[in-house]
Amino acid sequence: MKAFEKNIRKVEPYVPGEQPRQTVIKLNTNENPYPPAPGVRRVLKGMDTDRFRLYPDPAAGDLVAALAGYYGVGEDQVFVGVGSDDVLSMCFLTFFNSEKPILFPDITYSFYKVWADLYRIPYECCPLDEDFCIVKEDYFRENGGIIFPNPNAPTGLYLELSEVEGIIGRNRDVIVIVDEAYVDFAGRSALELIEKYDNLIVVQTFSKARSLAGMRIGYAISNPLLIRYLNDAKYSFNSYTMSQAAIACGVEAVKDKAYFEEGIRKIIKTREWAKGELKRLGFSCLDSKANFIFATHPKYDVKKMFEVLKDKARIYVRYWGGERIEQYIRITVGAKEDMDALLGFLEGYLPAMERAEDLSD
Ligand code: PMP
Repeated sequence: MKAFEKNIRKVEPYVPGEQPRQTVIKLNTNENPYPPAPGVRRVLKGMDTDRFRLYPDPAAGDLVAALAGYYGVGEDQVFVGVGSDDVLSMCFLTFFNSEKPILFPDITYSFYKVWADLYRIPYECCPLDEDFCIVKEDYFRENGGIIFPNPNAPTGLYLELSEVEGIIGRNRDVIVIVDEAYVDFAGRSALELIEKYDNLIVVQTFSKARSLAGMRIGYAISNPLLIRYLNDAKYSFNSYTMSQAAIACGVEAVKDKAYFEEGIRKIIKTREWAKGELKRLGFSCLDSKANFIFATHPKYDVKKMFEVLKDKARIYVRYWGGERIEQYIRITVGAKEDMDALLGFLEGYLPAMERAEDLSD
């Protein structure tokens, strides 16, 4: 080992889902199958590219104002960043500086562990119960902060707002971050609690329900004090996080409420139908309220299924393995045609898988 190695910050990075360059049916990273609001195309086409020689507005003021207007909060209550990953990473850096461990579920968004390691934040994981639910009481102990997604990922299970409030209310001395990347497909947001609890931060994204994963836009909403601390950290790191194009697209997406709501309605409809179809094929699915379905099959090895889907059908879903979820795959809810292709392939393939297993007996 070289002498300098000991001073290098080594981390085990987050592994994002594959983004294959060839055309495939992509149900692996919870992207939205529909295009963003039509105004996004219009605004991009009309952009004055001469302005790209200038830095963007470091405060992304237009986007902050649009979000503040949409959610009925002050502009000093909104923080924006390059996807919610950027926002969450800033939150970890800013708010989790205790000697005590932060808490998050054992089965959850795998980036939390990576940021904790990167920033040297001690953490402890609270096991989900046997039904993969978050147990509120596990968070009623001393800690240095709390984060969980609602709905949780990759389970898709939504925790009722009263339970979320129970966790926030019992932890008034630390910051509680509710990661609501998928809440638009689910139910009530913890944004309702922002005025009541000064220790709460809600983080959301444009990547899922707003169909803008490629533009990288995320945001946090909280009280002005916590937002100021977040901005102080951001301006100590990188002032110009959001491009002019991302700011303009974000503003357009927020303006079109009808399009946003219609897109959500379509995805929820496909999700509920697809859950039924998967069950018909013998799968058991968690009752996801997100834009993905976490499924297992009592008879077949889903890891094999994941590989076959990819290699033979060019259908990409997500598989992690690991304790308690080694027999689960996560399927993003795509357009109806994509789900038809997936289900059609599985229907033909499962009997062949059974025959192959019989032969190998
Ligand atoms: N939180 C959760 C729970 C997620 O699944 C994701 C998507 N990978 C993110 C945050 C980050 O999404 P983005 O950076 O695209 O906003």
